[in-house]
Amino acid sequence: MSNGAFERVALIGIGLIGSSLARALRRDSPETSIVACARRAETLTAVRRLAIADETTDDPARAADGADLVVIATPLSAYAAIGEKIMPVLKAGTILTDVGSVKQAVIRDLQPYVPEGVDFVPGHPVAGTEHSGPESGFAELFRDRWCILTPLSGSGSDAVAAVAGMWERCGMRVVTMSADHHDKVLAMTSHLPHLIAYTIVGTATNLEGSLKSEVIEFSASGFRDFTRIAASDPVMWRDIFLNNREAVLEIVQRFTEDLTALQRAIRWGEGDTLQELFTRTRAIRRSIIEAKQA
Ligand code: NAP
Repeated sequence: MSNGAFERVALIGIGLIGSSLARALRRDSPETSIVACARRAETLTAVRRLAIADETTDDPARAADGADLVVIATPLSAYAAIGEKIMPVLKAGTILTDVGSVKQAVIRDLQPYVPEGVDFVPGHPVAGTEHSGPESGFAELFRDRWCILTPLSGSGSDAVAAVAGMWERCGMRVVTMSADHHDKVLAMTSHLPHLIAYTIVGTATNLEGSLKSEVIEFSASGFRDFTRIAASDPVMWRDIFLNNREAVLEIVQRFTEDLTALQRAIRWGEGDTLQELFTRTRAIRRSIIEAKQA
């Protein structure tokens, strides 16, 4: 590693997040050699056409061999099998990180198998769109967004600083917290909103014929915004809910109670209750805009 940049980075998974990182590395540290790994030949062909990696392979072990940084950027359900393949080739001094949207499950699947001398620094760049695949990536995806690292007691401070430095060069603000805390925060800020969007759009698709087609035709901004979120990758989101089950169920329980209270306020004509809540929620929106996260 020189000037903070890595010599050889293995990106295992080269979809929206992996390919955005590849583009940012190309821009910020052209001396870094990038090896991209995916399963499907068409994904690897796209990577070569886009010229965002120096090498491509469908073998995670081959990608990881000789890399000083290995980044796992696949759906969560692929992690355990990838871990099994790459651990034997990781040499002392290698840094292993990931971008997964849930952190405790990732640590459970990988940490026990990390070889001596390899630093594992779990991470989550909190940036994304509803699109998937290498064509959908762009270097600016990470600009002004948060990256959460959840280092373990065994993660060396130099390794944590090196991973943090990489995301900072991508324009991210880096924060560290425990994996447990990460999963609770994200259950509220990301996982619950997606679950609600999937439910609302699911409810619309269950409507009988004429009503359903009118919902689509007259789709106003409220419903339309939910359809964008509900267009997110089905495999990725299946994995998130299955791997953050406890935190999601806890927050869904609270949400259900609050929804019931609103239902009651509407039923009994309690306008003050509704107006008071909507005033508080409007203030939250303003503070998100002020924090430049809108
Ligand atoms: P994506 O666009 O669907 O890309 C996934 C990549 O993983 C593809 O290159 C895919 O290759 C590869 N892959 C899947 N299974 C694999 C396997 N068994 N072995 C090797 N490669 C495999 O996904 P993404 O949106 O970049 O998400 C990747 C990770 O980032 C997820 O864990 C997600 O939780 C996290 N994340 C996503 C977002 C977001 O908004 N999208 C934001 C932050 C974090 P093939 O094309 O060959 O299948």
